[in-house]
Amino acid sequence: MDPQPVSVSSRPLLHAGLGRHSGRQGAWWGAPAQALGAALGCALALAGCGEPQPPSELRQVQAVSDQLLRANGIRTTPIRFALEAGETAPYWAQKAGLCKASKQETDAGDACEHWAHLSPADAETPAHRQVNRLSYLLGTASARTYAHGLITFDRSFFLVHGDDQGALRCVVAHELTHFLRRHGFLSSRAVNGAWKDLPEQQRQRALATLSQTQELAADRNAMLMTAIAGHDPVLCVQQLQNGAQLDADYAPEAPLESHPGYVRRLASARAYLKGPLQRDLAAWRQAEGKRGGLQEGSAPRWSWDPNDQLLTVRTLPERRVSP
Ligand SMILES: [Zn+2]
Repeated sequence: MDPQPVSVSSRPLLHAGLGRHSGRQGAWWGAPAQALGAALGCALALAGCGEPQPPSELRQVQAVSDQLLRANGIRTTPIRFALEAGETAPYWAQKAGLCKASKQETDAGDACEHWAHLSPADAETPAHRQVNRLSYLLGTASARTYAHGLITFDRSFFLVHGDDQGALRCVVAHELTHFLRRHGFLSSRAVNGAWKDLPEQQRQRALATLSQTQELAADRNAMLMTAIAGHDPVLCVQQLQNGAQLDADYAPEAPLESHPGYVRRLASARAYLKGPLQRDLAAWRQAEGKRGGLQEGSAPRWSWDPNDQLLTVRTLPERRVSP
């Protein structure tokens, strides 16, 4: 499988960009305070000691995702979650002289781009640790979805959102929607199929229009998934509002941007909350009644790979191999 995100524009990723809240620091299990906490936890729990644990940020993601997946009866191919250094890391890496980009890469504007996707858990030198720290303190707090089922968060997301589970739930539901509805694939298919012979500017405009439509759909469905899971969908509207304010994002609509402007996003979410959400919720409940609820064997199963710093959830029943 191609490990790269679907790349259909100069902004290759679908992401939430949903703003900031106050937060906390030092969430890594490798940190001394965390190691002490883990040791005390082991001594008290007397079970599961020695098992590698995901960082606390991904444990928060697991908690809200598990409930969303269960409540919404989602069964799909594996979904994976990871942390990334974040979108500002290439800038800091370049400043620190750690980036060995070719002139061609620099001219193309993607010098050191891979630094954004490095795991924040890995840093062997003081300079690299400083890049991670600056990316964490001054990051864009974004989340994004790759077409092959990987959802990543800049670690700075958890600095600004802190323990705000409502915000995290809305963002996870938004990203899950991108994956479940195959938004990346549909964009790529349009760009490389129906629109492939359009003049470049028209093609970019068509792609932006489609992407913005997908973003609004993901916002709406995040509210529906949140309501199905028994939480107040108003939190998602508040999240959009807080996010825009904390990002100081009051930019006018840009026709070639992947995301609609804050004003349109907020208006769309409020309009959905006023009526269509209740209609969709009733339709979902009716359909769920016919399906008979969560099927046996489809409860989410989680695993953590410490080598790749990857949290995976499986929702399809395990295949039974015949003897
Ligand atoms: Zn999105």
